[in-house]
Amino acid sequence: MSEKAGDARLEMETLVSLSKRRGFVFQSSEIYGGLGGFWDYGPLGVELKNNIKRAWWKAVVQERDDIVGLDASILMNPRVWVASGHVDTFADPMVDCRECKKRFRADDLQGRVAAGVHGHVAEGGVIRCPECGGELTEPRMFNLMFKTFVGPVEDQASTAYLRPETAQGMFANFDNVLTATRRKLPFGMAQIGKAFRNEITPGNFIFRDREFEQMEIEYFVKPGTDEEWHQHWVEARRNWYLGLGIREENLRVRRLDKDELAHYAKDTYEVEYLFPMGWSELEGIANRTDFDLRRHTEFSGRQLTYYDEGSGEHIVPYVIEPSAGVDRCFLAVLFDSYHEETVRGEKRVLLRLHPSLAPVKVAVLPLSRHESLVPPARKVWELLRPHWMTQYDDSQSIGRRYRRQDEVGTPCCVTIDFDTLEDQAVTIRERDSMDQVRVPTAGLVEALRERLPNV
Ligand code: ATP
Repeated sequence: MSEKAGDARLEMETLVSLSKRRGFVFQSSEIYGGLGGFWDYGPLGVELKNNIKRAWWKAVVQERDDIVGLDASILMNPRVWVASGHVDTFADPMVDCRECKKRFRADDLQGRVAAGVHGHVAEGGVIRCPECGGELTEPRMFNLMFKTFVGPVEDQASTAYLRPETAQGMFANFDNVLTATRRKLPFGMAQIGKAFRNEITPGNFIFRDREFEQMEIEYFVKPGTDEEWHQHWVEARRNWYLGLGIREENLRVRRLDKDELAHYAKDTYEVEYLFPMGWSELEGIANRTDFDLRRHTEFSGRQLTYYDEGSGEHIVPYVIEPSAGVDRCFLAVLFDSYHEETVRGEKRVLLRLHPSLAPVKVAVLPLSRHESLVPPARKVWELLRPHWMTQYDDSQSIGRRYRRQDEVGTPCCVTIDFDTLEDQAVTIRERDSMDQVRVPTAGLVEALRERLPNV
């Protein structure tokens, strides 16, 4: 019997507790009571996260001939955020409860009322506090950008913002990258980096954080070809998630209604995943038109155009922006790979992670701590370490150690037993099938490579 992601039975709590117990994700500064919307990735979490980022970079930079990478700074000249529209419009409507003092996003509450999941509505359709039924304040717009100061003086002139998206670093470098790489349209830039938003209601574990990581592409195209490229990117990005093993029934693409569009967008699609709280955004793929390049031209005085040799004209390219969240992808991957099954009367929990994402690829397990098994087991471990992320575990029974590796998604275990001392062979045990095969140590790397292709 297996439990599927998206089933009501698989609760967020199950994953939160597995993540903490096994070292995927911890609450930030937990010993001081934590800080809302901030999380730390533990020893296994940092591996999974790096593997997600590596898979993305491989698909969008390494394997394509039309995209180059960038790593821009987090703090930028504050005029960037005036030009981008974030200073004026990057805000959510906030309401406070006059009774219990809790704070909510007004648009969230309206959505919950429309979906029929919010009971506290007074006569005349007045929405009341979902926690205590108290009276709510009028909505006030709350800007989501974190502020800080650059240099020793804390005043208006030294105010800077922690970037709420990585995108603007790419627009601001449009001319630098174009000149340095002599690219022709269409071409793109890709960037992975931290972004910060002072969300009014962070929550759902790592789904909505105040510090998170984005994987963004700005893909510059000739105006008029933008709609076609938009379709290309929606398809390419959907396929990327499927290629990582996310199940098709848990993934959908939704086109936003006009009234849902951001201030810069002509059209946007979302790739959504079926989380326990319902279909939620993993990635937004927006047609940002020429909005950003024109605004930066206007505010900086620098011409951000492309010289089109065909027509002999300077044009302002349109931009298609696939913008994904690393943390949300991490959460979706965990949900989608989580399985419970009963094996010989016992519960087996396993993460059926794609081998390229698994934090540990191979676990090296001596059958026991018997002193004769230690040298050959250590030798096998040394043999494998240059090739893959490995783990050595010699505590408790072999059955328990297999279960521990299953629970963190390790695709292969290699067991060294007393026969190894005679025949120089070891056992490979596969995570999903639990099949075991005996292979000579001399051919072990090859045998594992077959089971871990392109990893
Ligand atoms: P939402 O509607 O959920 O607030 P958004 O539409 O504001 O998200 P975008 O501005 O399109 O999000 O950001 C692109 C991607 O960055 C999102 O698809 C998501 O994966 C990620 N992201 C945005 N905000 C957060 C957050 N607070 N925590 C974690 N990831 C986020």
